[in-house]
Amino acid sequence: MRIGPVHREAVLIQERVRIPDRERPYRHTPGMQVLLVEDDAALATVVSEALGAAGHSVQRVATGADALAAREYQLVLLDLGLPDLDGREVCRQMRGRDPDLPIVIVSAAGAEMDRILGFELGADDYLVKPFSVRELQVRIRALARRAGLERARDATQVLGRLQLDRRARRVTVDGAEVHLTTKEFDVLAYLCEDAGAVRTRSEIIEHVWGGHWFGPTKTLDAHVAAIRRKLDGVLSITALRGVGFRADVVA
Ligand code: CA
Repeated sequence: MRIGPVHREAVLIQERVRIPDRERPYRHTPGMQVLLVEDDAALATVVSEALGAAGHSVQRVATGADALAAREYQLVLLDLGLPDLDGREVCRQMRGRDPDLPIVIVSAAGAEMDRILGFELGADDYLVKPFSVRELQVRIRALARRAGLERARDATQVLGRLQLDRRARRVTVDGAEVHLTTKEFDVLAYLCEDAGAVRTRSEIIEHVWGGHWFGPTKTLDAHVAAIRRKLDGVLSITALRGVGFRADVVA
């Protein structure tokens, strides 16, 4: 997709991430039904495509009135600068109707005051333009998890010859069980949650070890090496120097 130079925000987003250009055969839907309230058509297209690539379905509206009239969605991405209504008012009304609805405010205004105001309005999260698609996907996943909307995602996942059962914490290749340690399983499951996309080292460490990380960063490399050895020829884990790791199904 081509984006004109006036759409600087969208261009920045494109530069910072690679949106998969092929459909991933191991995509693990169902994702969430996202209501995208954004009057910048180019930005809305980029965001829709990124959410679609992550397995979410997107309903696009460009005005506050249409946003308030929309039905059947589980999460809202709300631009504050809308042509008709103030996004803050839209947020307030949505929150009034549904106290549990995850709302992410998207705004070009990054001032600390606006940030606080966003949360006072009842928003769950806040994204300042320009943001990366990766950042957007991570926030949405976190909100979905918190809202308990991603349970389906946590069940069994099939990636080529590999089968990952998160409930039983069991990994099989062609039906034969592969033994992984607890942390190896956690690292693998986290990488596979978004196979084909990069997880940064800090994301992995935060997710798997949380506040209990005292070891050297080599510990993560050792876990990845063990997983690679055990899943040789089934799943490839690529290290991106200074960034993180990416898991891909071996074709
Ligand atoms: Ca706007």
